[in-house]
Amino acid sequence: MNVPFLDLKAINLAHAAELEAAFQRVLQSGWYVLGQEVANFEAHFARYCDSQHAIGVANGLDAIFLILRAYGIGPGDEVIVPSNTFIATWLAVSHCGAVPVPVEPLEASYNLDPARLAAAITPRTKAIIAVHLYGQTADMAAILPIARQHGLKVIEDAAQAHGARCHGGVAGQLGDAAAFSFYPGKNLGALGDGGAVTTNDAALAEQIRTLRNYGSKVKYYNDVAGYNSRLDELQAALLDVKLQTLDQDNAQRRAIAAVYQQELAGIAGLTLPQVPDWAEPVWHLYVIRHAQRDALAQALAQAGIGTIVHYPVPPHLQPAYAELGYQPGQLPLAEAIHREVLSLPMGPTMSLDQARHVAATLRACLAQLAQPN
Ligand SMILES: *Cc1c(COP(=O)(O)O)cnc(C)c1O
Repeated sequence: MNVPFLDLKAINLAHAAELEAAFQRVLQSGWYVLGQEVANFEAHFARYCDSQHAIGVANGLDAIFLILRAYGIGPGDEVIVPSNTFIATWLAVSHCGAVPVPVEPLEASYNLDPARLAAAITPRTKAIIAVHLYGQTADMAAILPIARQHGLKVIEDAAQAHGARCHGGVAGQLGDAAAFSFYPGKNLGALGDGGAVTTNDAALAEQIRTLRNYGSKVKYYNDVAGYNSRLDELQAALLDVKLQTLDQDNAQRRAIAAVYQQELAGIAGLTLPQVPDWAEPVWHLYVIRHAQRDALAQALAQAGIGTIVHYPVPPHLQPAYAELGYQPGQLPLAEAIHREVLSLPMGPTMSLDQARHVAATLRACLAQLAQPN
């Protein structure tokens, strides 16, 4: 039995008839950018996120960037980001001209450590980006009071967390504004790029609507120097189809994670995800940790099991951030995590039998690795 890391084709073919109907509707409408499809999807996604406003944008990176821009964050400002995240979180800050200030995670959750967060705040700090990594929310109940005390904005990077909950509240309205990605592999994925901002701040929503469309409220009249970062009608129509089964899809991810949690428990040297009682993750990724990660990934590949490393190099050690001057060893938790994590197959079309097979194979591979040749 081969188990791919993620079967995107199967995921989308499950909706083939409805996606084709949505395509026909857009084709026949003759209207392809910022129309009724985007407005409909925004209304539905806002409701899903229990949020007053959703604004469709071109991708997840732009969603974070536009929030920061709308808050007026720029040169001379600092924004706190996790040391272990996808580089987009950092790039959004850099593209505003501000400096990303990394904070190391809690090893139990891989998310921002509130204690370290407080220590990283300076007079230049303007905002905190809390990433809900792998689909489990950051500890917002601990982060928000620290932010409020210092007058900082809290931005959720919810690119991996559509539908995740924290103390019962859904991602997208846990802070001041939230950024979502609809990259094809995310829990809610388009057939191309897409993103959204959600917020309960009407003024912020209005500003992002303007910024995403050349800084224009009325066509050809430009109030500010904006951008072209719009979710297009076709992707909005396709996303609206897939939004209808997002909860079902997330439930299947939870069932797979439950199999992994049970079948992989108690293996020496293998670290499984830990879920605090206030968190309801949506398992964008199921990430394990092992000192012999690369050998394990290779053995699994030979056994027909697809895995991916999220992510092999932390942002501060990427050539893209050479200018910040970080050296290996400066953010040791992020570096150790990046050396040891491995994402197992996970997705809404995967079966529980496949999950059991992955777990059994992984056990066998680890037993073999443990043997001296
Ligand atoms: C995917 C992702 C992004 C960026 O989204 P894109 O749509 O690819 O631009 C940002 N942050 C995190 C944590 C992500 O996983």
